[in-house]
Amino acid sequence: MPTEATMRRDPIAGESKDRMDQIATSEREGTVRWLKALTRWIAADHADLPQPARPEAIDWARIVPFILMHVACLGVLWVGVSAVAVGVAAALYLVRMFAITGFYHRYFSHRSFKTSRAAQFIFGVIGASSVQRGPIWWAAHHRHHHAYADLPEDPHSPVHKGFLVSHMGWFLTQGGFRPDLRRVGDLSLFPELRWLDRFDIAVPIVLATGLFLVGDWLAAHRPALGTSGWQLVVWGFFISTVVLYHATYTINSLCHVFGQRRYPTPDHSRNNFWLALVTLGEGWHNNHHYYPTSVRQGFYWWEVDLTYYGLKLLSWLGIVWDLKPIPSTVRDAHQGECR
Ligand SMILES: [Zn+2]
Ligand SMILES: [Zn+2]
Repeated sequence: MPTEATMRRDPIAGESKDRMDQIATSEREGTVRWLKALTRWIAADHADLPQPARPEAIDWARIVPFILMHVACLGVLWVGVSAVAVGVAAALYLVRMFAITGFYHRYFSHRSFKTSRAAQFIFGVIGASSVQRGPIWWAAHHRHHHAYADLPEDPHSPVHKGFLVSHMGWFLTQGGFRPDLRRVGDLSLFPELRWLDRFDIAVPIVLATGLFLVGDWLAAHRPALGTSGWQLVVWGFFISTVVLYHATYTINSLCHVFGQRRYPTPDHSRNNFWLALVTLGEGWHNNHHYYPTSVRQGFYWWEVDLTYYGLKLLSWLGIVWDLKPIPSTVRDAHQGECR
């Protein structure tokens, strides 16, 4: 048994002790990192996040819930399907896509119309139920995208980073978790929005719980519908959210690659009819990069933009106002296809 004195003299024993210390330290650091990640699943305090050591490295400790969202869709093998469950999934897809495109994007990120503080918060909460984090996080990254669209600094440019990173890799990284809060000073002024950003995960938990309770009640009182608590959770929450995820992501990944370019913007943005249908109007992405503050992204009547029609309806009801148009001279300045 070597004494401390002999260890100090014996270079091999000393080296192995150093190695053991290193392993113990890295294990301790790993545990701390996982514990911090666990707390950030529940309380995502962006202001508290340190500058990441490797911004482009996948943050495995934090993306477990994202992976589980996908795995949970397999629950359909156990819970089966019913017309009610599919209807709930479709309705929740449409409502939440509208909250993402109309509010997270056109309102919080681009300020293309005005609304009351109450409506701002309510649509922020509906947007948060999409499990795409809070409006401050979303808007900060999106404003960054417009500032550097398709330049090397753009975190989700398919031109520089390829399909997978532009589709979903970018927000699973250490850098992706940390928004540049300097870009969203106007939104950070509202304590309720800061709260929503911090506890964004509370909203989907409430939604999933509500779906379970409704499905469970229907199973007991309306058995002919053939649904259940878990069936509504799997369809209304997991499947609907995962489809909503990937539809939203196509604007970053596919809409900078496939489609037409009417306007010679400095980026690679495209107009894509099919993606505009799936995303309720966001597919008119070349239009949008050309004039980002326009509330409508389908600039002409034949460019279907369901989000714009929804916002127009809300303006007739007095819920939103001052919808910013695109001046027709600016809109008509370019026609046909450009490079
Ligand atoms: Zn873009
Ligand atoms: Zn935008």
